[in-house]
Amino acid sequence: MTAADRYCEAIYELAEDDIDVLQVRIAERLGVSRPAVSEMTSRLVAEGLLASADGRLSLTDLGLRTAESAVRRHRLAERFLVDVLHLGWAEAHELAGSWQRVIDERTEPALVELLGDPATCPHGNPIPARDGLHGPIDSIGLAGGLVTLASCGVGDVGQVSRVTERLENEPGMLVALEHAGLVPGTRVEVLSVAVDGAMAVRAARGVIALAASSAASILVRPGDLELASHS
Ligand SMILES: [Zn+2]
Repeated sequence: MTAADRYCEAIYELAEDDIDVLQVRIAERLGVSRPAVSEMTSRLVAEGLLASADGRLSLTDLGLRTAESAVRRHRLAERFLVDVLHLGWAEAHELAGSWQRVIDERTEPALVELLGDPATCPHGNPIPARDGLHGPIDSIGLAGGLVTLASCGVGDVGQVSRVTERLENEPGMLVALEHAGLVPGTRVEVLSVAVDGAMAVRAARGVIALAASSAASILVRPGDLELASHS
């Protein structure tokens, strides 16, 4: 993966999470300095991968294709690590960063076939299609029928659908969620909501406390899992 690939991937993920694509957010996401981001983004604008308007950055068609390839390989690698190698949900995200680098034009289609052309990564985030039809990025705001856990009230139940990339990148978060059993396909119930929006939820394997910002990055399908699966 080149630096350009990493930047395009990070920008794609910020847009997917409905976070403004500003240089400061890219610096946070990639763990690099502001001057480094400033230098690199000017280069990517010059190379036609990024467009800049009023301090906000966006991917051009070329940038989007570059990002989709990186995001697809990352999420396929995660699926392979979980589905085939049976590694944990949290460690898969960590390891996928190096695994995605060896996926190329020849191995990618084979991997897609082996995995049964999965629609999402193990954390529920959509795997971009290879069909050349690009965008719009399947962002939180566009996820049909889903609501953020943060928008739920006490007593509300739902089925976990998607743990967004922002949480995947928050140190320790995936481990905590996996430990509590809060993973896609499982039931959650809101037990309490504090004035600052922090909440306690009952997940498949226990109760977990979530900051408001974390709850805003978890998408659920409202309604009871048992009812949904029997209807
Ligand atoms: Zn993932």
